[in-house]
Amino acid sequence: MIKVAVNGYGTIGKRVADAVSKQPDMKLIGVTKMTPNFEAVQAIKKGIRLYTSKENMKVFEGVGIKVEGDVESLLEEADVIVDATPNGVGAKYRQTYQKLGKKAVFQGGEKADVAQLSFSALCNFEEALGKDSLRVVSCNTTGILRVLCTTMKTGKIAKVRGVIVRRAADLKEVKKGPINALVADPASIPSHHTLDVKSVLRDLDIMTAAVVAPTNLMHLHTLYVTMAERPSKDRLEEVLVRTPRIVLSKSVTSTAELFEAARDAGRERADIPEVVIFQDSINVKDNEVTFMYAVHQESIVVPENVDAIRALMGIRNSMELTNETLGVLKGVFP
Ligand code: NAD
Repeated sequence: MIKVAVNGYGTIGKRVADAVSKQPDMKLIGVTKMTPNFEAVQAIKKGIRLYTSKENMKVFEGVGIKVEGDVESLLEEADVIVDATPNGVGAKYRQTYQKLGKKAVFQGGEKADVAQLSFSALCNFEEALGKDSLRVVSCNTTGILRVLCTTMKTGKIAKVRGVIVRRAADLKEVKKGPINALVADPASIPSHHTLDVKSVLRDLDIMTAAVVAPTNLMHLHTLYVTMAERPSKDRLEEVLVRTPRIVLSKSVTSTAELFEAARDAGRERADIPEVVIFQDSINVKDNEVTFMYAVHQESIVVPENVDAIRALMGIRNSMELTNETLGVLKGVFP
């Protein structure tokens, strides 16, 4: 059993913790949290062992939340640490993980140099095998890379241009905006997603622009992919339909309906870890193919985190098991 500790039990950490608990070859040994909020209470109710900093232990105990010990005492016990702390905090922990001799998975809010390799399972799983640290790229970049690395199976990509409409906040975030504006993010090209994609596909000619929109459900991307040769739309759709973690949607063309469909399907937290490509948006003109697709920011990186744990441990067969245990689909949704 791979002993996994999750450092940072927020939007990503709690989902990764639940996903780890569903793996037959992994044991969730505990999670850490700095704020004694509702997420900490839920962790305890689920029987998850909770840890915090030495200074915080009294605060947690003061509001009746039981903690098992301090952060280091948990990290010492782990084979792999999944760092899901806020942007930039993971980099501060890097030395601690190294000092303890622990393998670590970081998230996309960290700079690429936090880890030995930026990771996207459909693109570079083999390269990640046996590394000491991996960084799962951001939610937007995970979406882009899944689409591009699958498209590459049908032919060489010459260049990519894209527009990313980003959700302004996650559901629980009450202090983020905008509430009534579309914000260029930034008002210069490229957006940071270009660099993030190139941290995995180093030689790709890609340029992205990003806009923040007042919504909290999902992101929506439009990609224009120029292939070296004219692509076959039928072949492309066939490959996309056969690729787990990508689904096509014919009837649903909005993030609101997708979210509702996930709730109707009884999905835990209404999560959609698959990239959802709007089927009618797949359009081929000369050598260019266009895609519009939705990315559920809160859950899309969860399967990749599970695969990253196995890759660090040198285990080759991961993606199928991850998909099966987490119910990640291929084909069509809903
Ligand atoms: P979050 O704020 O929801 O959760 C972070 C958790 O870390 C909180 O529980 C907090 O208590 C805890 N924490 C804070 N300081 C800590 C410390 N010093 N030690 C241990 N724990 C600490 O954040 P999130 O949205 O889950 O983001 C985590 C990472 O995942 C970031 O790198 C982010 O960029 C990335 N990410 C987020 C999303 C998303 O949409 N939320 C998507 C993909 C990737």
